[in-house]
Amino acid sequence: MTTYPNQRIVLTSRPVGAFKPTDLSLETDELAAPGPGHAMIAVDTLSIDAFIRTILDDGSYHMSVPLGGLVTALGVGTVVDSTVEELQPGDRVFGPLGAQTHALLPATALRKLDVGVVPARAYLGAIGLTTGVTAYFGMCVVGAVTQGDVVVVSGAAGAVGSVAGQLARIAGAGKVIGVAGGPHKTAFLVDELGYDAAIDYKNDDVPTRLRELAPDGVDVFYDNVGGAILDAVLFQIRERGRIVICGGISQYEHMDRVVGPTNYLKLAERHARMEGFAVTHFADRFGEAETALAGWLAEGRLKMPEHVVHGIDQFPAALDTLLTGGHTGKMLLQVS
Ligand code: NAP
Repeated sequence: MTTYPNQRIVLTSRPVGAFKPTDLSLETDELAAPGPGHAMIAVDTLSIDAFIRTILDDGSYHMSVPLGGLVTALGVGTVVDSTVEELQPGDRVFGPLGAQTHALLPATALRKLDVGVVPARAYLGAIGLTTGVTAYFGMCVVGAVTQGDVVVVSGAAGAVGSVAGQLARIAGAGKVIGVAGGPHKTAFLVDELGYDAAIDYKNDDVPTRLRELAPDGVDVFYDNVGGAILDAVLFQIRERGRIVICGGISQYEHMDRVVGPTNYLKLAERHARMEGFAVTHFADRFGEAETALAGWLAEGRLKMPEHVVHGIDQFPAALDTLLTGGHTGKMLLQVS
């Protein structure tokens, strides 16, 4: 009987505070050929996402990876064996493939990709669920960005942030300001992504720079980070301003002790609102987001810089790089 050799990344210890690559390890096993309704996928590329840090904790609100269990990851791959007529060897698919070289999954968990217009890996980045599609609903729907708005994006040089700032520009924002760590990232935002200005939260005084760059206040704040940056923007929010809680990566190392904003009463003072969302809340509108994002990508109005790491054994290091900000744009792991 045919079997498929597999290399997979498992959780060996739950991170205490900061994630360490040694919390994960590489194992090998053999996967049986697919049974009825299943397909075997050779994993091509994995999306390295911030949510992976949260599911390494016990009791995470998304789900939790069990100790010794395969680490969850979204990816694109190629069908190599299938018992399902709709999935034939050579077809490209997207799904929860996991941090491994082969994935045996029910066909119902997989989406067959149309790679005629955009390459398969774009389904992880520019039009990916956890990147472009998230930024689309956060910026365009929850943040309701509009012509002339002053927009601030935190985590601006990462995957979601890179797209969110460009979407604000496409919507006609008057000024787009990014917040990121380090001078190379602020330069990247302005020179590569077309941000008007950028604040280096590791070296600048964020409240002072915000007052300088947005003296009349901020209309939309797209927050990926939380903590002190959220507090600083709350102080500067404009009347009827919108704060989009996409994530709060500054809090992910201590989800049992999340530090909330102290300046939240500015929402009352300025008739502003703060609204969180998960991309899955917009599941019935994913097609709309993909079509819009693919169009802007094709027109050259949207760029998706990538940081690509090679080899499944590099998954722990790649996740560490994502969480410590050693990348710009979309972090991907090329498996094969
Ligand atoms: P990413 O932005 O590509 O990478 C994470 C970035 O966070 C790093 O590059 C780092 O950049 C920054 N960071 C890390 N620790 C920080 C800290 N203590 N203070 C400030 N910045 C810090 O990752 P991503 O996968 O695209 O995720 C971005 C955010 O979107 C995350 O909060 C994630 O949870 C959220 N998200 C939400 C949804 C949803 O449905 N709501 C979906 C997908 C993602 P610096 O070098 O600039 O520090």
